[in-house]
Amino acid sequence: MNILGIETSCDETACAVVKDGREVLANVVYTQIPLHQPYGGVVPEIASRAHVEKIGEVIRTAMAEFAAKAPRATIDAVAVTYGAGLSPALIVGLNAAKGLALALGVPLIGVNHIEAHLHTPFLHDGPPTDECGPESVMPALGLAISGGHTNWIDLPAYGQYEIIGQTLDDAAGEAFDKAAKLLGLGYPGGPRIDKIAKAYLAEHGLANLIPFPKGQPREGVSALAGLPAELCVSFSGLKTALLRYVQKEQPGAADVPRIVTSYQEAIVQAVADRTRAALRRRAYRALILGGGVSLNSRVRAVLGEVAARAKIPLLMAQPKYCGDNGAMIAGLAYYRRNLVGDAALRLDVHPSLEAGETVDG
Ligand code: ADP
Ligand code: MG
Repeated sequence: MNILGIETSCDETACAVVKDGREVLANVVYTQIPLHQPYGGVVPEIASRAHVEKIGEVIRTAMAEFAAKAPRATIDAVAVTYGAGLSPALIVGLNAAKGLALALGVPLIGVNHIEAHLHTPFLHDGPPTDECGPESVMPALGLAISGGHTNWIDLPAYGQYEIIGQTLDDAAGEAFDKAAKLLGLGYPGGPRIDKIAKAYLAEHGLANLIPFPKGQPREGVSALAGLPAELCVSFSGLKTALLRYVQKEQPGAADVPRIVTSYQEAIVQAVADRTRAALRRRAYRALILGGGVSLNSRVRAVLGEVAARAKIPLLMAQPKYCGDNGAMIAGLAYYRRNLVGDAALRLDVHPSLEAGETVDG
């Protein structure tokens, strides 16, 4: 079954075709990063208009790639992100997907963006050769870390999601981006901080870092909304600690590498701590990592150690599938056919959709 997936939830206009949930036959991503760079963050109005401008070309290019790879094959369904994301951005992809599904006479499948990030480790560029499809590693612990989300998710079976921990304020990617803005490193901050920290760590190691707070919320805080404190994180204190440090110390350019490495380490250790706690609560068979921040080299290395200690594999995507893309939407749609037909054609965008949440269309 070949599913075409469309993704426009934030600042990437993306379309892909995936066979049977795992084999990527076409993948086109147009990133709007340069358009938002002057503003230091994503501007919804600009994102929406750029999606309108590019969506046709992106779909056509993906269809051409698919036709070249599989000349006699057909598209059997169209999948689209309907949440979470920016409402004016989501609407562009959803409407394009509805039009395409109607024109091709195939079902439309609504896909949850956060759940789709956790599908990325299962995507392959050729036919999948291994036996470790998503169903074979359940129950799994999912960790979705991106610009908009930081969620620890219990997957008892593939296609079932329950949030067991989360950030109480900023997402990990947001914490990276805000620090970079404060230090004048540009947007998006994550990749820049990662690069600077990598060079710093290679030379100086972990000794002598600034002890920034690791964002552990207190038990009983109302913002936990019933979730256990040991599985939640708060990055707002870390951000404030960085601001105070900068105001007090007035660091020069030469001090930036040590500061950003310390800041990154606080985020990485916070994420690692909560992941260890989640792994102690249930016997999981894998740790699945998804979202833009899963590109971070230190996140990958430290979570690799955490998983190894728990004697389970850490499943991560190839770098090209870590950020937003259509392949994760088309891939997960194969396993999640919950919203099809007329219900999907009535589907509206759901900007605040959570992992595990479903709508009736
Ligand atoms: P969303 O789906 O919420 O828009 P993405 O999955 O597109 O988020 O990820 C974008 C986020 O990932 C940004 O906040 C960016 O700074 C962060 N990011 C990308 N690469 C890295 C990296 N190497 N280290 C840390 N953060 C990163
Ligand atoms: Mg993005």
